[in-house]
Amino acid sequence: MEEEEEDKQKKFGLFCDPEEEYIKELDVAVRAVQMACSLCQRVQDTLISNTRTNHQVHSKDDNSPVTVADWSVQAVVSWVLSECFGSENVSIVAEEDVQTLSKANASGLLEAVVETVNECLAEAPRFGVQKPIPALGTSEVLEIISRCNSIGGPTGRFWVLDPVDGTLGFVRGDQYAVALALIEDGEVVLGVLGCPNYPMRKEWLSYHHRYHRIISKLTPPTSETWNKGCVLYAKRGSREAWMQPLLQANKMFVWPNHAKRVSVSSIDNPALATFCEPVEKANSSHSFTAGLAHSVGLRKQPLRVYSMVKYAAIARGDAELFMKFARAGYKEKIWDHAAGVIIIQEAGGVVTDAGGRPLDFSKGLYLKGLDRGIVACSGATLHGKIIDAVDASWGSSSL
Ligand SMILES: [Mg+2]
Repeated sequence: MEEEEEDKQKKFGLFCDPEEEYIKELDVAVRAVQMACSLCQRVQDTLISNTRTNHQVHSKDDNSPVTVADWSVQAVVSWVLSECFGSENVSIVAEEDVQTLSKANASGLLEAVVETVNECLAEAPRFGVQKPIPALGTSEVLEIISRCNSIGGPTGRFWVLDPVDGTLGFVRGDQYAVALALIEDGEVVLGVLGCPNYPMRKEWLSYHHRYHRIISKLTPPTSETWNKGCVLYAKRGSREAWMQPLLQANKMFVWPNHAKRVSVSSIDNPALATFCEPVEKANSSHSFTAGLAHSVGLRKQPLRVYSMVKYAAIARGDAELFMKFARAGYKEKIWDHAAGVIIIQEAGGVVTDAGGRPLDFSKGLYLKGLDRGIVACSGATLHGKIIDAVDASWGSSSL
């Protein structure tokens, strides 16, 4: 019996009871996101160091940027989940489709994606995942990307993936995230957030990333110094959120990979609180949040951060508040929030819409019925103050 247990532990690489709910799902999801982060770092390095590779950044129909990394991460995560759970058991809602990739004039792009995917999957054994033999062909890569075509909904189990959240931050050499969550019967049950440029020292968040790049070159990272990036994760109802450093080059992934527990900050005085907001004005109103911040007594300059790294900042206790009030007509997608929301909640924080209701992930691809905006806080006291202030200032806003 004991031997059998040991075998299971070896197989799943778990640090706790393998019978625990969603533990295998969490284990696989963390490995997949670790792989995705290492893929993204490689692609971002080429984008930054080679100015002639500008053609690697493409525009989607809504003019938002997309790169080789977006499709490649989607392919890798789709492949890893199918490999570990069987493709018939895996349903994925993800941001990218293959339309642009399949166009006749995109053969160079498609070739780059296939190469990037295979380069990453060749390293899969380092992460405890089987690699494909032989390497994947073009049609297989297109198939694993397009397989992520679930439309979500109120029943059943599906994964939600934003392969690169904050692509603009990504191409600028700044913050971005890889976000993977599992939803069951409309509820988020686990979330994994890879933040490849979010180092241990929170001060670095507010510097331009280029500065951090120079510093990390001057003082090369030693193992476990955490000065590069991290992966955060949480499981519903555990009341725990965890953070691991990114797996270092040439190292084997051994669960739990130096994980440490994170929790939200205990600051509930608005005058001492730090609030985060999106960098891009197109998706949110800075003037409304500035007015709101003033009325609640927030005194610090807002921290403008790309991507779901804002959720990570609150879960880690580096910031206390994230507010986002989209302009009329903007629809929030589930993949932009699912992983971040559960990690903050399990780290002790509160996330709701501006009416104080939980975000509803059961209505398909979008957060339907969202009341005005999203408010994520380190605790209930601060959250209550913000919700009251939104009500007081909403009438006079032009959103
Ligand atoms: Mg994205």
